[in-house]
Amino acid sequence: MQPFHAEIIAIGEELLSSESETLDTNSVYITQQLGALGVRVIYKTTVGDDEARITEVLRIALQRVPIIITTGGLGPTVDDMTRQAVARAIERPLVFQQTLLDEIAAKFARFNVRMSANNRAQAMLPEGAVAINNPTGTAPGFYVIHEGAIIICLPGVPREMKAMLEQSALPLLRQWIGAPRVIKTRVLRTAGIGESHIDEQIGHLERLSNPTVGLNAHAGQTDIRITARAESEAEAEALIASVEAEIRAKIGDYIFGVGKETLEQAFADAVRRSGLRVVIGELYTGGMLQRRLSKATFADGVLRFAEQGVLERLRSQMQGDLRVVSEQMAAALRLEHGVDAALVVIAEAESSAMAATDGLELRSRAYFYGTDMTTPEVPSGWALSMGWHLLKRRVSAQT
Ligand code: ATP
Ligand code: MG
Repeated sequence: MQPFHAEIIAIGEELLSSESETLDTNSVYITQQLGALGVRVIYKTTVGDDEARITEVLRIALQRVPIIITTGGLGPTVDDMTRQAVARAIERPLVFQQTLLDEIAAKFARFNVRMSANNRAQAMLPEGAVAINNPTGTAPGFYVIHEGAIIICLPGVPREMKAMLEQSALPLLRQWIGAPRVIKTRVLRTAGIGESHIDEQIGHLERLSNPTVGLNAHAGQTDIRITARAESEAEAEALIASVEAEIRAKIGDYIFGVGKETLEQAFADAVRRSGLRVVIGELYTGGMLQRRLSKATFADGVLRFAEQGVLERLRSQMQGDLRVVSEQMAAALRLEHGVDAALVVIAEAESSAMAATDGLELRSRAYFYGTDMTTPEVPSGWALSMGWHLLKRRVSAQT
């Protein structure tokens, strides 16, 4: 078992029912919050309001992770089973806690609501458990430590769950795992290089334990995530900086940005620096490139999009395989529009191709999977990265 691994158990019939539309947003939220602490969720389980099944799920979780977070099933009604199930899973009795009942009663008094007899059930906790205050509702949560594992039980109501996670559970977990004071992450964004090629270059860094380095590929881009744990901001920064420098030395040419920087804006910046006017032609991508590039800032008139009719006419005139067609179309578009550079992407059902030219150089690629297997975002992402590389290269050639 790894010390920073967690499982989330979402409890509630409504999360399983075919009639209900409740999405398990709690698990998503908890996963994000734990991530910021350096705790990784490696299992998410969903189970209905059934004591035996919840018990079973808890027993399995106890065998594979040291941190378990449950949500739901803490209400006062008979279908709220979390307390009983935790007690059974760790083989301890439920114990009535008068102080807890007093607190619940005080809340009811404050809200001016009559407390019912079954609220007494909410004052029953597994022996040794510690209550977690619920500042926005009546159902208390609790945590219990059992054979080196911690089980934290939070309500299902998202608003209450969030408040308790933030105010109690996360500080508690931070202490429990002895988390470092600072966890810092930097994401280097790459384009135009495959995940496996990055892996070849920096695979040895992916085995480090601090900072950790991980890859995440999506739509023609690969993110390299560097996460450091340290006692101070400066120490974390230094850990990241040394690994970042090594990565940049190997594949710096493919890194277009850091953090939230987008490929669209990197492309726009490359266009501006190159001083070139560019035309873009996209066929069968549903206007994906145009839509993506509308989010970036360009100088007036430097970027144009070829009309669909023009593209279809050119396409029908071209012979050869899709890659050759994309090359010819890029060259033709550049001349027809009287601009300096052209970028073309054609995303057919079974294959896609893209080409970029600035009149000096012509780049192109074909992929033998098209929009049947991917979304248009994928070929348009590849095209964008091809254009970015070409323009960047032109800039460095000029200087
Ligand atoms: P509590 O422990 O707060 O009493 P509960 O399970 O008894 O929780 P429910 O009445 O089942 O409470 O659910 C309360 C509300 O919270 C419902 O609207 C339900 O849809 C929502 N909810 C429960 N679990 C989740 C979840 N995992 N993600 C998002 N919403 C949830
Ligand atoms: Mg429930």
